[in-house]
Amino acid sequence: MNAPSSQRAPDANDRPVPSTRVSTVERYDFHRVIQSYLDDAARLVNVPDHVRVILREPKNELIVHFPVRMDSGEYRLFKGYRIQHSNILGPYKGGMRYHEHASLDDFKALGAMMTWKCALMNLPFGGAKGGIKFDPRSVSRDELSRITRRFFHALGSNIGPDYDVPAPDVGTNAQTMAWAMDTYLNTVGMVKKEAAMGVVTGKPVSSGGTVGRETATGQGVVHCIAEWARRSRFKLEGKKLIVQGFGNVGSNTAVLLAAHGVSLVAVGDHTGYLYNPEGFNVHRLKQYVAQNGSIAGYANGQKINRDEFFTVQADIFVPAALENQIGASEAEALQVKLVAEGANGPCSPEGEAVLARRGIELLPDVLANAGGVTVSYYEWVQNRRSEIWGIEEVEERLEKAMLDAYERMTQFATTHKCPNRIACYGVALQRLVQVYLDREIFP
Ligand code: NAD
Repeated sequence: MNAPSSQRAPDANDRPVPSTRVSTVERYDFHRVIQSYLDDAARLVNVPDHVRVILREPKNELIVHFPVRMDSGEYRLFKGYRIQHSNILGPYKGGMRYHEHASLDDFKALGAMMTWKCALMNLPFGGAKGGIKFDPRSVSRDELSRITRRFFHALGSNIGPDYDVPAPDVGTNAQTMAWAMDTYLNTVGMVKKEAAMGVVTGKPVSSGGTVGRETATGQGVVHCIAEWARRSRFKLEGKKLIVQGFGNVGSNTAVLLAAHGVSLVAVGDHTGYLYNPEGFNVHRLKQYVAQNGSIAGYANGQKINRDEFFTVQADIFVPAALENQIGASEAEALQVKLVAEGANGPCSPEGEAVLARRGIELLPDVLANAGGVTVSYYEWVQNRRSEIWGIEEVEERLEKAMLDAYERMTQFATTHKCPNRIACYGVALQRLVQVYLDREIFP
């Protein structure tokens, strides 16, 4: 479709879409999907079977229940998770997600992906993920602070700067990390306070965060797209972009791609979808979302529905919302040349197979959105060394890290004649296998 019809029933933004596509009847088994990518890569790399079996499951699965006093004076019990998948390469590392559909299984998948991502990027970190099952938009700021503080208090010494280092993800941000760090620092001894700031990354710059972290994931996506364009002799100037999810990753990707002359023509979030064939002013849209919490009500765009969004004629699609958004039907509908996965796990295996058949190229999540954890690593290093780096240093290092990993993926894919995603898992697996061969299994 070129231009969505204006005859359509006016429902798209008036009625919030369900916040995941997962049907309650047949649940999308995200963890099984991630395990299958490991199995595929293991067929290409010489992996002792016991190592593959170990890496299919997380090392630790933590569930905590904790009470929080709500503004009404009533108490509500919350359920929090932390999945620690692997720490063979370094401390567990991964985001904290606040979402009403969060589940243990999804965190198992997301935690494992962090292991693959950190290994691919050559970072001295393992993989983890966690969060709380609730809708952060449904509570007040004070309630959000108390929920976050009780959660991190409940995790206690299960996190720490040398053990497990959380970061922001869906529904959390720099403010969440400031509350998390403050809670942790209030539980450690006075003398350890300075050294313990690295307990979380993605903090505000004023509270021990690093410059460049806020935009790092989007910047990493853009480095990958620019490198893909360079290698494919594809001129980015004047090209069109569609983005699903306009939070940290989606908005920063759109803003940074605008500097390459790429215009955003369709965008969606949990409230609905908008279309503007002239191209949105991404700076203004980002500001609007910061003030209003979503794209709903933004004046300079035509409302379209989810199905229409996936048919918009463009060049690049950046999914930057949730997992399992691109199934077979969405992949059939897409009218783009490249899908760059800002989100974790946005393509189902069926969707990915359709993209491959249609010749739509794919930059997989474990590479494309690895800019976030890479700059989180720079933040952690600065905290350890009591250093403050400038933006040039952060940006130079990030670009080199992304391009080096891109090259590792390409070389593996060429050598083994496999898709980019399996190549990323293969590179990561080679690194992990070597450590298991060096250290062997205790005792
Ligand atoms: P965020 O909370 O800042 O933004 C999420 C966006 O997705 C919002 O615009 C929200 O409205 C939208 N959304 C939620 N449900 C949706 C639905 N059903 N349909 C359409 N849009 C929907 O989160 P974020 O940090 O930008 O994370 C987005 C994705 O990127 C996640 O998959 C996350 O795991 C991944 N990621 C984030 C980082 C990071 O540094 N924040 C790093 C790597 C990967």
